[in-house]
Amino acid sequence: MSKVRVRFAPSPTGGLHIGGVRTVLYNYLFAKKNGGDFIVRIEDTDQTRFVPGAEQYIFDCLKWCGLMPNESTINGGPHAPYRQSERKHLYKQYAEQLIKDGFAYYAFDTPNELEQMRIDFKTVDNPLPQYDGKVRMQMRNSLTLSADEVKKILDENTRHVVRIKMPAEETISFTDMIHDEVSFNSSLVDDKVLLKADGMPTYHLAVVVDDFLMEITHAFRGEEWLSSAPVHILLWKYLFGLEHMPQWAHLPLIMGPSGKLSKRDGVKYGFPVFAINWPQTTAEKNLKTNEFTDGFKEKGFLPEAFINLLALLGWNDGTEQEIYSIEELIENFSIERVHTAGAKFDYEKAKWFNHEWIKKLPVSNYQQRVKELFVSKNVKINDDAHFKKILDLVKERCVLLTDFFDQAVFFYQPPIVYDEESIKSKWDDAKHDFFKELTSKYNGISDWNLNLIEGEFKALATEKNIKIGELQMIFRIILVGSKIGPGVFVIAEYIGNTETISRIDNALINFSLF
Ligand code: GLU
Repeated sequence: MSKVRVRFAPSPTGGLHIGGVRTVLYNYLFAKKNGGDFIVRIEDTDQTRFVPGAEQYIFDCLKWCGLMPNESTINGGPHAPYRQSERKHLYKQYAEQLIKDGFAYYAFDTPNELEQMRIDFKTVDNPLPQYDGKVRMQMRNSLTLSADEVKKILDENTRHVVRIKMPAEETISFTDMIHDEVSFNSSLVDDKVLLKADGMPTYHLAVVVDDFLMEITHAFRGEEWLSSAPVHILLWKYLFGLEHMPQWAHLPLIMGPSGKLSKRDGVKYGFPVFAINWPQTTAEKNLKTNEFTDGFKEKGFLPEAFINLLALLGWNDGTEQEIYSIEELIENFSIERVHTAGAKFDYEKAKWFNHEWIKKLPVSNYQQRVKELFVSKNVKINDDAHFKKILDLVKERCVLLTDFFDQAVFFYQPPIVYDEESIKSKWDDAKHDFFKELTSKYNGISDWNLNLIEGEFKALATEKNIKIGELQMIFRIILVGSKIGPGVFVIAEYIGNTETISRIDNALINFSLF
């Protein structure tokens, strides 16, 4: 068998959403599992939809996810160029070959004529007539005009396109790796444009030609492309022979809370839909269309968790296992176990994966990202080793990386506000005196350690006959501002003697105002 070669073929038109990254992932896993190559080809033949920066963004996403290709526009390869606009000269000959063989034709219809066709052929049964077998012989094309007329029009350089001539009443079938046998009636498919007036191929021609030239063996793409498959199958048959055609796998849709997951669901339901922030959507679009939510990265996801949750959106290995490293995914993945039904995206479950990965990975894996978060919020981290210890202390409590800030900032700065509600009813003179006295006790400790901090506290509480639980809760609010964080004596130990005393003193002033 020839070497496995798969491709991800994005159009650079915007942010890379969950579905796109899952397509990358399944391509990548399949390639790695089979010792094959993963290719990224940029499909930018539709110049009207081209968005500057989108290509770079795609590679930034792949880099963050750790799913880098073997061949692409950025790392080259034996089939370069990998950007279709730079391959423009390659496609025309295939369109001409199709015309010569009677499988395609030149069409000269103007936009007005096309509009008129849609009016003339409109019926109750066919409200949206397409350019197909029913209408093509009434239009201006190389099937209806004489050879001389066609030559004249072409010689005059009149704008024209090339269309495929869909056969009548033919059953077009293929075996999909996920959907098994899939069949289409050729009469229901329109005569798609293959070569546009600007000389660029459409996606339909370019994808087939490039999959052939790049020796692609397996083509995975979203299920939304299934309806285009009959055109692609015919092109394969007409141009290269079906025996060279890659095996297709149309991946199930990803479903949101209300139908197919869309970009807008992000804003509507408050969860990320893009892998990383799509720069174009931040400032301008955010204001204009309110379409922006943070990417998974910015929201505080680890790439390991993101990959893991995407892998399970539409696949499982038949066991109860849910947590997989990329190596385990490569080992266990099989395209045959991808589901046919749409996969439901559940943000709560997505966060569960992240929590598991935060706990599972050593802090050193994400310490730098968390440090950047602290620095961006003007909290200086001078001692990385100490910072690491703190992150270890609180990691169990963090679902997203961004949670580390609230869970650990009090190790670096005193609370600015206090959870008044929780202490108001508990605060009285006896408690005030307890904490006042505690400061003198703590002042006297020269060897500041957990045992002594806790020991002095409990001894004083017993002496004063005040409930330890209430005092501990208040002590936590004194040190942290709220009820979160690891053991309160551990916090005191970490922030040190002087800082603990200073926070008690501050709180006594603030609490006296209640
Ligand atoms: N260029 C198509 C897209 O934007 C790729 C479809 C395919 O993989 O064949 O999704």
